[in-house]
Amino acid sequence: MSCKIDYQPAPNLLENRVVLVTGAGDGIGRAAALSYANHGATVILLGRTIAKLERVYDEIEAAGGPQPAIFPLNFEGATLKDFHDMAETLDKEFGRLDGLLHNAGLLGRITPFEQYNPELWQQVMQVNINGPIWMTQALLPLLQASEDASIIFTSSSVGRKGRAYWGAYSVSKFATEGFVDVLADELDNQSNIRVNSLNPGATRTQMRRTAFPGKTPLRCVHRKTLCLPIYG
Ligand code: NAP
Repeated sequence: MSCKIDYQPAPNLLENRVVLVTGAGDGIGRAAALSYANHGATVILLGRTIAKLERVYDEIEAAGGPQPAIFPLNFEGATLKDFHDMAETLDKEFGRLDGLLHNAGLLGRITPFEQYNPELWQQVMQVNINGPIWMTQALLPLLQASEDASIIFTSSSVGRKGRAYWGAYSVSKFATEGFVDVLADELDNQSNIRVNSLNPGATRTQMRRTAFPGKTPLRCVHRKTLCLPIYG
């Protein structure tokens, strides 16, 4: 997807929309959740650290946004049943889902492949691609209940061109790009659901600091809020 640099979303762009953000407690997910709420969305804050989600919840309330919801979930241990239970709960609570931002991500280690720990590899694949895929499948009926729903997967430049030592992270982002192509093609013209991937670019977060400890943060974008273009 190409984004207009000067794009300015209307203040009420997401009014009456229900949007779920994974990894909403920190980094890009937090900024996106705040921004969606600021544009009128009811945001479902999903993540593994409840204290962080509560802080985002409080920030949204303090800013006068629609009351958000918190959904604690750790992708590492999550099962198919967890995803279907989640869908059932959200169905009872909201009846539909207009937006789904897959943002939660794990860097793993930047290390030569011959030293890559297989358990860590599995963890990264579970959090970055396998969990989100099965969560998407469980949530499809709720997305179909929306007039026009949008699913965004967060990708990365290393999901389009492999980079030495980036191991499972890079492979998981290639898989993300592939899955988005498959699902977007499948739902094209026969569904109300759009599916896109988005590379946020170098952004000053904990993940970026871990990946590039020697790089000056001044070269990265510092996003207090961020409106990933779920609509518009
Ligand atoms: P971050 O600051 O490390 O935040 C990652 C988020 O994912 C956190 O909220 C984290 O929760 C959550 N998360 C991690 N493991 C999880 C799990 N097992 N279950 C549930 N949630 C989990 O990273 P970020 O930089 O904001 O990255 C967000 C997305 O953007 C990722 O998909 C990343 O690959 C992508 N991206 C980032 C950059 C960049 O420059 N920052 C560039 C390209 C792409 P906790 O806070 O509880 O740990």
